[in-house]
Amino acid sequence: MSDFPKGSVWLVGAGPGDPELLTRKAERLILTADIIFYDALVGPEVLALALQNLRLVPVGKRSGRHSKDQRTIDQMIVDAALAGQRVVRLKGGDPAIFGRATEELEACRTAGITVQICPGITAASGAAASLGASLTLRGMARKLTLITAHAKRGEALDLDWDALADAHATLAVYMGKAAAGTVSRQLIAAGRRPDTPVALVENATLPNERQFFTTLGLLPIASKTALGDGPALLLIGEAMRQRLASNRDALGADSTQLVSK
Ligand code: SAH
Repeated sequence: MSDFPKGSVWLVGAGPGDPELLTRKAERLILTADIIFYDALVGPEVLALALQNLRLVPVGKRSGRHSKDQRTIDQMIVDAALAGQRVVRLKGGDPAIFGRATEELEACRTAGITVQICPGITAASGAAASLGASLTLRGMARKLTLITAHAKRGEALDLDWDALADAHATLAVYMGKAAAGTVSRQLIAAGRRPDTPVALVENATLPNERQFFTTLGLLPIASKTALGDGPALLLIGEAMRQRLASNRDALGADSTQLVSK
């Protein structure tokens, strides 16, 4: 294959979980690779596709359960390429969004290995699609901000809360489960209204997806009681109001709403 010679590397986006959300290019690269290093967040059905491939190597990484550190992963990719293999590094969502792609690109380039990126559908897009909601809203949500709320062990979350409290922005918070309480308190302290709508989507686009609707003020409780073990995304902002409102109508209560698909 002309764009995937032996000894080269592709960082491939696996999308949020639904295998039909893989790009055609991602599917082709997965089926062509000699070896695939994949993340814990790659959906099981995407992996089943990759299983047709003989060498499938898990390399990590869920918060608190790191199986391989980043340097080891970089080295494994480089070693496989130097051994003449076609290497796919398969990552959840889009490799260029909170995916440590820079380290892997650098490691390959330093070793003189050709490395390319195949984009994927990021979790925020997958979650919005499942919700049936737009991430932007004319006049009300003119800005979409993707943030990670994952702090290094023992460190406080160092974010520009004043900038994030912009009432005209939709915030997509990745890795935000543990920090949901902090996110809520800091945004409200910085002036964001407590009744700002919030959608939480766990395992977006997977068969076990769950959706919750709440407000910024109730988010600390909602995230603790509602969310399970799966990856979850918080979507905060006026763009979510319509979904929050229609779920209140449907379920007739006024706090956190749980909707299982
Ligand atoms: N590169 C990925 C993000 C990796 S960071 C992307 O573009 O989507 C990992 C975080 O992404 C998780 O903690 C969670 O917040 C989010 N995430 C990934 N897959 C998800 C899914 N199927 N449903 C909800 N959130 C998801």
